[in-house]
Amino acid sequence: MKKNDEIELLIEDMGADGSGVGRVDGMAFFVKDALVGDRVRAKIVKLKKTYGFARLLEVTQPSAYRVEPRCPLHRKCGGCQLQALSYEKQLEYKERKVRENLERIGGLDLDGVTIEPAIGMAEPYRYRNKAQFPVGADKDGNAAAGFYAARTHSMVPVDDCCLGVVQNKEVMRRVLSWMRQYGIAPYDERTGSGLVRHVLIRYAFRTKQLMVCLVLNGKKLPQADALIRGLAEIAGIANISISINQQQNNVIMGDTSQTLWGQDYIEDWIGDIKFQISPLSFYQVNPIQTEALYGKVLEYAQLSGTEVVWDLYCGIGTISLFMAQRAKQVYGVEVVPQAVADAKRNAALNHIANVEFFEGRAEEILPSYYESNHPDDAQHPQVIVVDPPRKGCQQSLLDTIVRVQPQRVVYVSCDPATLARDLKYLCGHGLEVRNVQAVDVFCQTVHVETIVLLSHKSPDSV
Ligand code: SAH
Repeated sequence: MKKNDEIELLIEDMGADGSGVGRVDGMAFFVKDALVGDRVRAKIVKLKKTYGFARLLEVTQPSAYRVEPRCPLHRKCGGCQLQALSYEKQLEYKERKVRENLERIGGLDLDGVTIEPAIGMAEPYRYRNKAQFPVGADKDGNAAAGFYAARTHSMVPVDDCCLGVVQNKEVMRRVLSWMRQYGIAPYDERTGSGLVRHVLIRYAFRTKQLMVCLVLNGKKLPQADALIRGLAEIAGIANISISINQQQNNVIMGDTSQTLWGQDYIEDWIGDIKFQISPLSFYQVNPIQTEALYGKVLEYAQLSGTEVVWDLYCGIGTISLFMAQRAKQVYGVEVVPQAVADAKRNAALNHIANVEFFEGRAEEILPSYYESNHPDDAQHPQVIVVDPPRKGCQQSLLDTIVRVQPQRVVYVSCDPATLARDLKYLCGHGLEVRNVQAVDVFCQTVHVETIVLLSHKSPDSV
């Protein structure tokens, strides 16, 4: 076998990035856009010792799990790696991804662990409350919003991304027609010229408020009045703003934002807690599944009202505020100063007083609190929740968690591989996994959110 050879194979599995995996002569081949159950013809593009990559030429016999993707651009865009796979099978894929990581990377024996079926959505489309459309020139040089075509600098227009809300379409139509009418130049990533880089749209599912923020490569927005007139006609619009980012990088938002019209924020609710969200605030993107996720965190935390709880990596304090209603005291830790400020503001907004937020690294704050201060028993935590970014927790933090000995640890993770690595450490130091729950927060993509409940090894299992 060599590069450019054509092969035929049955796809038996799907890899971490959603590629189909099949075998030819004992070699595993990864084939993008092929689905489990497909029989395909493909061309070898790269060969390694025991595996290779092949480009899909033809699906000769489609998988029984193939469905008609809603988005005609889904293969080109690449944002929804699983859109052609039936939703049921997507959930199965995610559940298995979690299980395999825990077994292979975590070395965990899952007998005796309750693995609950993944929580999916009744309607796994139009779930995102936030869209960030890149703006550029299409192949004819007109202002367009969408994604860059592979290996080019021209924008493939996306008229209606079906993960986002229907309101996005009208907002983008008005922004783009305003740009064309007044000759406002789209950003050009090659030269760093042009003005409008991105359009951020946020929609609050409960209050139905809309935010539109234009990210600019420049300090002033010409013809702002005309833009505002057009956007203000859209129902629910509550904030029109700009954020200035003149750096030539792939960061989307600038460091600050400025309101052009309306309030400085939109408001939304998660459960019975209200949040003010400004253009730069972090906020969960799938509000429906966030409630399911936080509900599960509460269930695993088993709070009765007497507990001291830590919420590490707390962001704007969403999980902290959720738990504060059921605990004696909650401490949140977050490294981004603006997020800590938002967390404090949200606590005040909801009149929640039994929560305190610390700005800093979880791996520094928790050890210094427990190992230098020696707090009394009344401050000993019963529950520690961690919700780290993809890279997971530092070992020094895990080590402190082991030494502090809370009754329960709830680990919320957006990357099953680093989750498994961290669980391996915790389980090697006296903790045991009790429950595992995958939640489908990013439907149609390969990403999965997992919640794990750990507690101390029972004496008979040592
Ligand atoms: N629990 C929150 C946010 C989770 S995202 C929610 O559900 O909304 C992870 C958060 O961890 C981000 O806000 C990020 O800024 C923060 N973070 C990253 N590294 C950190 C560290 N070492 N210590 C504390 N927070 C950190």
